[in-house]
Amino acid sequence: MAKPPVPLALSGTRPVRGKPPRHLADLDLAGRRAAVTDLGEPPFRAVQLSKHFFGRYTQHPDDMTDLPLTSRAALAGALLPPLLTAEQDLSCDDGTTRKTLWRAFDGALVESVLMRYPDRVTMCVSSQAGCGMACPFCATGQAGLTRNLSTAEIVAQVVAGARLLADGQIPEGPKPAPARVSNNPPAPARVSNVVFMGMGEPLANYANVVGAVRRLTDPVPEGMGISQRSVTVSTVGLVPAIGKLAAEGLSVTLAVSLHAPDDDLRDTLVPVNRRWQVAEVLDAAWNYAAVTGRRVSIEYALIKDINDQAWRADLLGSLLAGHLAHVNLIPLNPTPGSKWTASRPSAQREFVRRLESHGVPVTVRDTRGREIDGACGQLAASARPPASARPPASSSVPAHPASPPTTASPPAP
Ligand code: SAH
Repeated sequence: MAKPPVPLALSGTRPVRGKPPRHLADLDLAGRRAAVTDLGEPPFRAVQLSKHFFGRYTQHPDDMTDLPLTSRAALAGALLPPLLTAEQDLSCDDGTTRKTLWRAFDGALVESVLMRYPDRVTMCVSSQAGCGMACPFCATGQAGLTRNLSTAEIVAQVVAGARLLADGQIPEGPKPAPARVSNNPPAPARVSNVVFMGMGEPLANYANVVGAVRRLTDPVPEGMGISQRSVTVSTVGLVPAIGKLAAEGLSVTLAVSLHAPDDDLRDTLVPVNRRWQVAEVLDAAWNYAAVTGRRVSIEYALIKDINDQAWRADLLGSLLAGHLAHVNLIPLNPTPGSKWTASRPSAQREFVRRLESHGVPVTVRDTRGREIDGACGQLAASARPPASARPPASSSVPAHPASPPTTASPPAP
């Protein structure tokens, strides 16, 4: 698809090539005060603008009736430039799952997914356009990295989701059975959880991601006021960055995309394993758990006959037993051109049973968003019909055929 031209901007406000325009969500409150002062406005305007963006989810000057008419456009133009334009919206699960394809100022495409459940609303956000980690079973990994998203571009995805909820555009979904109603608080019409599990490797865009975590979790007007404990940062296992994150003083959940307990297989499923191997990645995870007191989530996509053998479940169980960890099994979601499929139900049940027999807590992730290519590993950011509207995989040309490893035997003793 041809990229649109970079929008014209007046000199002085023109973005540096490759860099999104500055937005108030890129700055802390002191930085915002300095920016409004530079425009000849009193510093308290920074708080007013911040409340509009983080508290009311608006960036339109017309909505800012507490600002003098004469300064509204200049303030909004300088500190609330539009960053992402919705290119396509797809819904499933009765409207409670919504995937949005966003176009950035330079034509870069990213996706975010909102999932409303009876007791929470989770936003899955992208941290990069594309991804450089090249995991062969993940659609995002196939096209490579385009660029890092700015802090404000990440935050803008969550604010957009919050606005949809506030506008009543996401239905509550089916009500729980009457017997359980009294125990369930009414569904909040706000974003309660954020997972950095969209496109990109968050820890490869470290500073902007940590900036986004702070903006999302600082109280209004500094930020959006989401609880740090409800934010999850997922990584392929960039060991030095995990160490750095542990020292940030944040209580966010760390998720590690392990997918194999042995280096032979993990070298092929998560290529960065050749740099930081399973033992090092898990050491970094246990350090994270010790420093933050937070249970680490171990992500494991179950791939039929590739990583779902009983002996691998036992090996994984023995590596995790006694640690502050929890395994999130993800039935493999289909991606274009991949020959791999999800494990048989019997293999999945046995995998769960063996992990539990090691005393390791385990859950199986739901596959929300599959029909709209919005589930884990399916975000590829091109405006195209969802899987349900495409011809079957067998008749489509694989864009990037991934050859599965043949490994299916235990490592040599
Ligand atoms: N790069 C980060 C953030 C992406 S999170 C990371 O890898 O952790 C997306 C999660 O979905 C990761 O655990 C990823 O490994 C997993 N995933 C990727 N492709 C998948 C697929 N086809 N089916 C199921 N899970 C997949």
